[in-house]
Amino acid sequence: MLDLFKGYKGRALEVLKHFQARVWGDTTVQTTRGDFQGIILPRSENDDDRHIVIKLVTGYNVGIDVDTVLGMRETGYKEAHYKIPEKEFPFTPGLPKVKLLGTGGTIASRLDYRTGAVIPAFSPGELYGAVPELAEICNLETEKLFAVFSENMGPEQYKKLAVSIGKEIHKGIEGIVIGHGTDTMHHTAAALSFMLQDLPVPVVMVGSQRSSDRPSSDAALNLMHAAFTAGHSDIAEVMVCMFGPTSDEYGLLHRGTRVRKMHSSYRSTFRTIGDVPIARVTRDSVLPIKTDYNKRRRDNKVKVLPFFEERVALVYYYPNMHPDIIDSLAENGYKGIVIAGTGLGHVNKPVYPAIQRAVAKGVQIFMTVQTLWGFVHMFVYDTGRDLMSMGIVPGENLLPEVAYIKLGWALGQTADPDQVRELMLTPIAGDITAGEPYNGYLIFQGGIPEMEEFIRTYHK
Ligand code: ASP
Repeated sequence: MLDLFKGYKGRALEVLKHFQARVWGDTTVQTTRGDFQGIILPRSENDDDRHIVIKLVTGYNVGIDVDTVLGMRETGYKEAHYKIPEKEFPFTPGLPKVKLLGTGGTIASRLDYRTGAVIPAFSPGELYGAVPELAEICNLETEKLFAVFSENMGPEQYKKLAVSIGKEIHKGIEGIVIGHGTDTMHHTAAALSFMLQDLPVPVVMVGSQRSSDRPSSDAALNLMHAAFTAGHSDIAEVMVCMFGPTSDEYGLLHRGTRVRKMHSSYRSTFRTIGDVPIARVTRDSVLPIKTDYNKRRRDNKVKVLPFFEERVALVYYYPNMHPDIIDSLAENGYKGIVIAGTGLGHVNKPVYPAIQRAVAKGVQIFMTVQTLWGFVHMFVYDTGRDLMSMGIVPGENLLPEVAYIKLGWALGQTADPDQVRELMLTPIAGDITAGEPYNGYLIFQGGIPEMEEFIRTYHK
């Protein structure tokens, strides 16, 4: 029976005391806004004392205003243990040798009950402790390179990562897995696609949308898929490996230069843009969708090109953008600008003089499209032709973020405009393609299974 009470006005601790409820207690909280069932979490340093935070069975945390509490009843109690022990990975003869390089992100995170935040705290060894199935897939070596959320990744980390992967490959590793935050995983995937050329083994980036303390976490399955791909597939490219459909049916392998995070919270957030994914992956199989991928070799050779010019910007055009945006970049010494333009690759007329001034200063400007799917076509409208005559170079179907990374990488090697232009417009890792497949946008992206089945049957 709930303690039917007419409501308690007070502070969180007093309310807990009053109803004899305890932190870590599995509790039913009756409020003026309905009942909540979950575990009472300790108050974080940053929380006020007017709320009680409970972790619902769904894994979400909710804050309950203490003034709305009518009653509380503890139904169970179990103190949380959220430190996972580091475990030495067992060696199994015959399984491929894979290296897991940790950079941080949710996949390497746990909930910090001190601050209430998700913090990068798992070392790769702890990851194995949490996902012992990895030992059936490969012989895994682990190394924590960074422990950052991916918004903190940048050129310095890209270069270090590329060099570390190069060293592992020279030593004879058979596959690489990179644990990474999902938010900017596609930037790092693009950077590695340009910095590591002629790869002999798979380089598989993996993350998770939901932290591993949540029942719906995708961390374990994504890791298993990524480890299987790294150890057993013959696709020697930089790839992103994440949920295909919203369910855990299979993962998708996306090419590092054609992938983008497209949903802020779905587990199936990554989509291949302008193409179809390279393959589907399950716990014990990789099922190719494409055939034109770089194949695995045994020579331990890779070209490592860890260059990046940081004075490069990506400008997302919006109606009524003022010319001073471009002027300020040029005045601040930026050497390259990628514009994500509207439609086929446009900006408004008032920006033209600023573009002319920037080009005159030697800034190299490339155009991409905000639509993401489709090519830049600057011959169709006057605007496009005008912009080209000012020196803006159409960036084919380079995705805006990929063009930004590629321009930083190109300018990191040469300041010569012709060479930069040539590097930018030469396809290096599927970053520019001849065309888009008709079925890429609609299927092969982990859509509704019935729909995929229907299309597979009728579109041969
Ligand atoms: N903010 C996190 C990151 O990108 C989110 C994640 O890991 O998915 O690092």
